[in-house]
Amino acid sequence: MTDPNLLMIPGPIGLTPQVLAALSTPQRGHLDPVFMKAFSSTLKRLRDVFAAPTAQPFVVSGSGTLAMEMAVANLVQPGDRALVVNSGYFSDRIGKMLELHGATVTHVRAEPGDLPTLDDVERALKSGGFKVLTITHVDTSTGVLAPVQSLAKLAKAHGALVVVDGVCSAGGEALELDVWGVDVAFTASQKALGAPPGLGVLLASPKAMEAWKARTRPVASMYLDFAEWLPIMQAYEAGAPSYFATPAVNLILALDVSLGQLLDESMCQRVARHVSLATAARAAWSALGLTPLTKRPGLAAHTLSALTYPAGVDAGLVKHVAANGVNIAGGLHPAIKATYFRVGHMGSTDAGALLTTIAAVERGLKASGYRFDAGAGVAAAQRALG
Ligand SMILES: *Cc1c(COP(=O)(O)O)cnc(C)c1O
Repeated sequence: MTDPNLLMIPGPIGLTPQVLAALSTPQRGHLDPVFMKAFSSTLKRLRDVFAAPTAQPFVVSGSGTLAMEMAVANLVQPGDRALVVNSGYFSDRIGKMLELHGATVTHVRAEPGDLPTLDDVERALKSGGFKVLTITHVDTSTGVLAPVQSLAKLAKAHGALVVVDGVCSAGGEALELDVWGVDVAFTASQKALGAPPGLGVLLASPKAMEAWKARTRPVASMYLDFAEWLPIMQAYEAGAPSYFATPAVNLILALDVSLGQLLDESMCQRVARHVSLATAARAAWSALGLTPLTKRPGLAAHTLSALTYPAGVDAGLVKHVAANGVNIAGGLHPAIKATYFRVGHMGSTDAGALLTTIAAVERGLKASGYRFDAGAGVAAAQRALG
């Protein structure tokens, strides 16, 4: 086989032919009119994707981790307090970053596969004085989906800025910054936004920009400072070039095409498609006797599934599935890494790709010596898809 496997990991994800085509045009400069138009359109489209008409978008070269650090570096300074709603690996990461940038960090934690309750979070908020509350919308290490809207409401009531790690959710899960009162959301190009890896994306509300302006200490990173990037984003959005650091021209061309496809489908339809595919996937896993990592059904994300290996099956499953043409991922959460695997179903994934993936997982389970009713997963998904 010369084509790579179907890429069903929780990012990077497979690209549409239109996105691929945008990557394979001759190299343009960052002052090229075609590029300027695409960058302007990318910034405008991001406001639509995030339902954030008043937010300031930033697109910078780097991964989601860079966008995470951009949020942290600009919002906190030594002496600030931050509350982390901790749902796993990526919540730990933002906690560490907040500390590195001088914040005093409190974590509200839960078992892997679970979320702290709203009461737990409220109790912590009441202890007072938090400048920011961070939420991992979908924790990619456990497949847990956090109730951003409810958490944001609590944070607002206690005067904290709401920061959402939307790296595994934006473009797949419902996420409406303005209406929900989210101050900063960030993501990366390679997950549900459907572009190649290499871009960090961040949107900041007017309130977040005010908080940044009100800092008394400089941002402890030149590359991440809003002060360097704000004039660049404003210029490109208005159709004029401006230089601080060379933009990833080709990736932005590709992201613009992907965002265009996303908005052509409409966010509403796209979220509905992710829900329907996730529902079908869950029906399949259940029919195969596979247990999700999420402790309660309402906690499960729609962009990926995280499943415990059944008795007798181990990480060898991932290789057996790959041998059947589909790439899935192993575990990520350090405490339970070896006990589960993950299947991404986000971006342009359709029913056909999902069914192919379920069939490959069945082949992999069979090769791992697991006993089950072959075809049961595919049949259950077919029924759920209607
Ligand atoms: C992937 C991911 C990140 C990190 O993004 P990178 O692009 O790998 O740096 C952060 N948070 C979440 C929830 C993610 O899924």
